[in-house]
Amino acid sequence: MKPLIIANWKMNPSNSKDAFDLAKAVVRGLEGVKADVVLCPPFVYVAQLLPSSNVFIGAQDCFWVQEGAYTGEVSPQMLKNLGCSYVIFGHSERKKLGETTEMTAKKTQAALLASLVPVVCIGEHIEEEMKSILKGIAPKDVSQIIFVYEPEWAISTQPHARPATPKEAQAAFKKMCSLLPKTTSLLYGGSVNSKDIKGFIEAGAQGALVGAASLDAQEFIQLAKNSISR
Ligand code: PEP
Repeated sequence: MKPLIIANWKMNPSNSKDAFDLAKAVVRGLEGVKADVVLCPPFVYVAQLLPSSNVFIGAQDCFWVQEGAYTGEVSPQMLKNLGCSYVIFGHSERKKLGETTEMTAKKTQAALLASLVPVVCIGEHIEEEMKSILKGIAPKDVSQIIFVYEPEWAISTQPHARPATPKEAQAAFKKMCSLLPKTTSLLYGGSVNSKDIKGFIEAGAQGALVGAASLDAQEFIQLAKNSISR
């Protein structure tokens, strides 16, 4: 199976030219590379970044209703109509802004209804978080969701951040797998770079959610290349 590498650009870059240039460099650098890559830019750049044959476009969040009187929100259906394929939910930075696991669960269900692939971040309370997400999902849909083990302390912008060790990631994957069908994809997220990606793949990750390293085209391209098992 091809690795899946998802770029979370967060609230970067600050203008659409830089966003376009970054995406263009990544698409060029990944020509012929046998990895699936998803770029998740801020909403305002989504429409301008067209997906290519192995670089998909995703969003960093969306609402749980498809249309209506919800000021400031963006719906899964709108993203789908723009050409998005993936959407990230449950990121610890959103939780700090008030997103609860119940909200993440509703968003996950709405994204599936719009045929988007939900990429759901799971932190330290693996069982509790996963059970709340899974209870509203039909068994046939569970393997459509991509779960990411992303402990908050591993995110590069945290003070004293360090990536999880492959052993720690493996222990987390084991807990996650016990709640999921065998066909579900698990990713690792938290300070991943081109040098340590291989260890996470060997520990059982199908790929990674990448923050800081996704803003440097060459580093990100190398990371995607190094995720391929030879
Ligand atoms: C993230 O916040 O989703 C993330 C993976 O960030 P970083 O790679 O910068 O730790």
